[in-house]
Formats: sequence, C-alpha cells, structure tokens
Amino acid sequence: MKQHERVTLLGSTGSIGVQTLDIVRHHPDRFSVYALVAHSRWEELARQAVEFNARRVVIGDERYYDNLKTRLAGSGIEVLAGSEAICEVASDEACDLVVNALVGYAGLHPTLAAIHSRKRIALANKETLVVGGDIVMSEARRMGVDILPIDSEHSAIMQCLEGEKRQSIKNLIVTCSGGALRDMTKEELQSVTPEMALRHPQWSMGAKITIDSATLVNKGFEVIEARWLFDIEPERIKVIIHPQSIVHSMVEFTDGSVKAQLGNADMRTPISYAMLYPERSAIAMEEFSILDYPTLTFKAVDHDKYPALGIAYDCLHRGGTAPCTMNGSNEVAVAAFLGHKCAFTDIVGAIEYALKRAEFTAVPSMEDYDRANIEARALAKEYLKLK
Ligand code: NDP
Ligand code: MG
Repeated sequence: MKQHERVTLLGSTGSIGVQTLDIVRHHPDRFSVYALVAHSRWEELARQAVEFNARRVVIGDERYYDNLKTRLAGSGIEVLAGSEAICEVASDEACDLVVNALVGYAGLHPTLAAIHSRKRIALANKETLVVGGDIVMSEARRMGVDILPIDSEHSAIMQCLEGEKRQSIKNLIVTCSGGALRDMTKEELQSVTPEMALRHPQWSMGAKITIDSATLVNKGFEVIEARWLFDIEPERIKVIIHPQSIVHSMVEFTDGSVKAQLGNADMRTPISYAMLYPERSAIAMEEFSILDYPTLTFKAVDHDKYPALGIAYDCLHRGGTAPCTMNGSNEVAVAAFLGHKCAFTDIVGAIEYALKRAEFTAVPSMEDYDRANIEARALAKEYLKLK
C-alpha cells in the first residue's frame, strides 16, 4: 500500500474535478487535499475547500479573488488568484499528486510546472498533450515523472498494456461513441443547436468536451494524446465507432490477440485507476453486467461526415505548432457555438481557416506554443466574425 498523498486538484469544480473529489472522499487514508483550483465558480470552490480542509485555493479569474477571500476569511485557507498561482500550487513541495482536470490550453503550463517539480500526475487535460505532447513527454521522461491518463480510452489502453512488451503491440484501437449527433446526416448537422449537441448519449461531461465529442474533434485529440502517451506512430492508432461505450478501447498484438477493457461509462473508474495505480479502488460503483449488453456493435468512421478526425491526423503528421493551432481555434469556435454565435459546422470551418493561415513552427519552444495559441484564437475569431 502506497503512503498518504497530498493532492493538488486543478479544475475541482468541473465534471472530472467533482468526481475526483468523490475518490478522495472514499479514500481518506490514502489522499488529502492540498490545493484546489477553479476558474470562476468561487462559491463552489469555497465550499469544497472547507469540506476537504484544503490548505490553499486558487481562483483562475482574478475578478473573483475578493469574493473568495471574504468567504474564506477566518478559515485558515490561503487564497490565491491567477495563472501563475496555479503553476505554484501544482509544483509546491507540499503536494505529491497533481490531478489536472482543467479544460483547454490553460492546462499546459501547470502540467509542465508539475513535471519540473517531479509530481506524480493524473492527467485529464488532454489539451496538454494535444498542444505540447512532444515536449511534455520528453520532459516527463527526463525528470522521471509518471503521467497517468484519466481519459477513459487511454486508461483502457494502459490497462491492456500492463505486462506487455512494446514490440508485441500491433495497433491501438480507440473506440468512439459517435457523440450526441451520430444518427444525423451531414446536411442535418448544419442546423444543430448547442442544446442538441450537449445531449451526449452515454457520458455526462463538461460542455466543451461534449461538443468536441459531437464534432469528433475529441476523438482526433485522443489520437494525438495516444501518440504521445504510448509513443506510437499515428498509423498504428485506429478509431472505430462503438455506440454503446462499453468497450473503452483495445490493443491488438502481433500474435493476433486483441485485449479490450470494458465497463460502465463512469469516469470514476479511470480517475481512481490513475490516482491509485497500481492498486484499484474498492468504492461502490454501479455493478457492470455484460448480460445487460447482448449486442455490442462496431463500425468504421464516416470521414466525410466527420472531417475533424482526418484534420487531427494531418496535424499530427505536420507536427510542430499545427495541433496547437487546431486546439486554439477549436476552443474559440466551441465557445462561440455554445453562445449561439455560430453554426455547429462553423467549428470545423474555423479550424481549417486557422490551419491554412497560421504561422507554422516546426520545432516549437513553449513561447512558440503560447504565440501559436494566441494566433489561432485570433484567426478563429476572424473567421467567425467575432470581436
Ligand atoms: P469542465 O468544464 O466540467 O471543468 C473544467 C474545470 O476547469 C472547472 O473547474 C473550471 O473552473 C476550470 N477551469 C477552466 N478554465 C480554467 C482556467 N483558465 N483557469 C483555472 N481553472 C479553469 O471540464 P471537464 O471536467 O469535462 O474536463 C476537464 C478536462 O478533462 C478536459 O481537458 C477534458 O477534455 C478532459 N476529459 C473530461 C472527461 C469528462 O468526462 N468530463 C472525460 C475525459 C477527458 P470553473 O468551474 O470555475 O469554470
Ligand atoms: Mg475520452
């Protein structure tokens, strides 16, 4: 049994964050909260900080600092604000495990800060690896840091790879539910509303990733994430549609064997696997019975209907700042779509527009990523005619 770990949880008020706190709640001997981080939901952050007796809290949006500070006055909990403070609590000596459940580009710098301070990292923020997977994984190797994926597909692949040799791997097979709009035609997709796209059939998640699931940008990002996490060529990462979301992903081996990991669509399983690895949690989840699923189906992706997946593979082949440009333009377009400021199909339009025009850097530094992210966001706004 591993020793007690003090946790910094980045994005505690989000979908993954709240489920992470559930794991902490069920394992008081194993985990305590060192720091919690959110962006704007300061009241929920304050409530969590008191419940878990956090030492420090950070609110990303500095406008809410005074409110949070006043609410926590007399509690002994230190209140901080801003992006530098996020990196500080992710790298503080007093913390052992960083769970990164931020959404978007905001997750990249805190992941690197945690790596450079040799923290164990449970990573939900896939954008970290989409943007800077090359730097992030080579820095993690250099510092001897473990990055344990929370994303269910990557958790499944990691579980399938336990005890296997690298040279035995033939292909990784990433499964894809198809998102909320999977039964619509290409034409119908043009008039989709945010409310329709937010109705994911299997997973209850934050708004951004739910939209990314509907466009299949999320699956493209997961291919990029797998490429870096498992150090495998893009050609050997396959995506297949599996509407029931029971098989979380698979690995095909050189001897013709295929291993799959199955379970309910409950993120607490991969979250606890990453946090407790190599142990498994014994918390009560809804029981899984394969008899409830007499028919599991699989089919190929329709690339004409879902161009985003092919764009992600292209970005991976181009390398450099291309995936960063895809990510930044997507973030702006998804926010615009959620705010009823553009059509669903404009999301991919904005990504393509940004990729065509952005300055490309083949071997980027962190400063290049910051620049490419700002440029991608500006290009997406230009395409969508937003201020
Ligand atoms: P949510 O939108 O539900 O939560 C995001 C969290 O990050 C919130 O706590 C939010 O704070 C905080 N946050 C956002 N931006 C900033 C910022 N700039 N500075 C500080 N805090 C910030 O997202 P999810 O939990 O759904 O997703 C988190 C990550 O996990 C994403 O990268 C997603 O792709 C990945 N993931 C999620 C899955 C899921 O089931 N939800 C499954 C697999 C991967 P506030 O609440 O105050 O806005
Ligand atoms: Mg996933």
